Amino acid sequence: MSVLVYIENTDGQLKKSAFEVASYGKDIATQLGTEAIALAIGDISSDELTKLGNYGIAKVLHVSSADLKTFVNQAYASIIASAAKQHNASIVVLSNTFSGKGLAPRIATKLEAGLVAGATSLPTVSGDSFEVTKTAFSNKAIASVTVDSSIKVITINPNSYAATETGGSAQVEAFNAPVESSDFGTIVKDIVRATDKISLPEADIVVSAGRGLKGPENWAMVEELANVLGAATACSKPVSDAGWRPHSEHVGQTGIVVSPNLYIAIGISGAIQHLAGVSSSKTIVVINKDLEAPFFKVADYGIVGDAFVIVPKLIEALKAY
Ligand code: FAD
Repeated sequence: MSVLVYIENTDGQLKKSAFEVASYGKDIATQLGTEAIALAIGDISSDELTKLGNYGIAKVLHVSSADLKTFVNQAYASIIASAAKQHNASIVVLSNTFSGKGLAPRIATKLEAGLVAGATSLPTVSGDSFEVTKTAFSNKAIASVTVDSSIKVITINPNSYAATETGGSAQVEAFNAPVESSDFGTIVKDIVRATDKISLPEADIVVSAGRGLKGPENWAMVEELANVLGAATACSKPVSDAGWRPHSEHVGQTGIVVSPNLYIAIGISGAIQHLAGVSSSKTIVVINKDLEAPFFKVADYGIVGDAFVIVPKLIEALKAY
């Protein structure tokens, strides 16, 4: 029996969430008295993969082939399921990213496994059954879920489980996974990255703005604040719907769910659909000129005032700091 963790990378660099998933898988393996094995797919150097040893991973299975250089949902799911079978994995762990959300149900179907998406804690294991908490109803509730299938697939939200360095090194092994031509129903030919900016789902700090900013021409100060803080930028739905910002920045119930250490909301009212995507942030700072804005009810720190006055002052103060 083992725990298999799927490791994501961007252009050959392991993502921050990869280390979180590694730590989570290692901690479950410790509870079960077994080992955590990692699986990575793509053009990644051995030096990069051995870093996982420092997070409690003993062995890394590496799949590298020209066909699999870009993410192909069906093929990746087949490979992960096949590695889980070959290594007798009773638990498969992924990050609850765009790729993880697409892969997890496919893997669960192939393994006839129970699936928990968006777990927020380590499971309590009792025999074949495990109990774990997860967010429910757009983050408004925490559900406690019991899974008693013999194999379980679990995804954890980025930033919800700390990556802990343990020391140690991982052994990297090539893994030859059988993939069928039917696994390549969708082929991504090329990925052109639109921006070098910090990835929003994994960001430690997010600076987000809403309709209170009046128009796209006023986003320079949001970007400047984000640059000073080393933050990712985000926005409310009406802002991306209006084409002021790209849809990739839209957070909320119908957008990306983020859980950064710091979420700064500028000129956003705090409608429940927006809060659904941001309420698990560790610290929330709200800047709004309306004291009655609902966002203040969930804020850790609130500044009542005009964003066009406050944000430049904040940037100036941070630069002087
Ligand atoms: P507004 O509600 O217009 O608020 C603007 C805020 O800016 C106000 O609070 C105002 O006081 C403040 N303001 C104005 N001027 C200034 C200034 N100079 N300085 C400081 N503050 C100022 N929304 C999302 O964001 N994400 C979602 O995923 C999402 N999904 C939805 C799904 C459904 C099914 C539905 C029905 C709605 C969804 N919405 C979503 C929309 C949501 O209900 C709100 O309409 C939206 O979040 C409001 O965006 P906003 O706060 O930017 O704009």
